[in-house]
Amino acid sequence: MVKNKKFLVEAPIYMFKKKHSCAYCSSLLTTRKVTRVINSSSPEADGFDFSMGDAYFVGDVEFSWYVFYCTNCKEEVSIKEQKAYEDLLKGRDVSKRRVINRIINTIVFLIIAALYIYIRRPR
Ligand SMILES: [Zn+2]
Repeated sequence: MVKNKKFLVEAPIYMFKKKHSCAYCSSLLTTRKVTRVINSSSPEADGFDFSMGDAYFVGDVEFSWYVFYCTNCKEEVSIKEQKAYEDLLKGRDVSKRRVINRIINTIVFLIIAALYIYIRRPR
């Protein structure tokens, strides 16, 4: 029987106010509450905050937090994973735009060069 419970709320605005799409199928993600019992002396306790005010929980603690959930893939996605995915998307967009700009610049240069050659051609 677990007596100690801790509810973690991470990045609530990011989680609930913004829309997020699935990395695998692009469906709109929903949120879901996850509950897990972690023992303070287990190896996975490192990833959890056992503090409670000035004191610390010892033993089994029931942690609850929210994750994103894709109803299509039936996959849970942590905030950290979703942020990493969205950063990657942003990065890709920037590099794509850079490539497009380079192609446009090259085309413009070729048109100007062609016009110059055409104007300067011997008559
Ligand atoms: Zn999905």
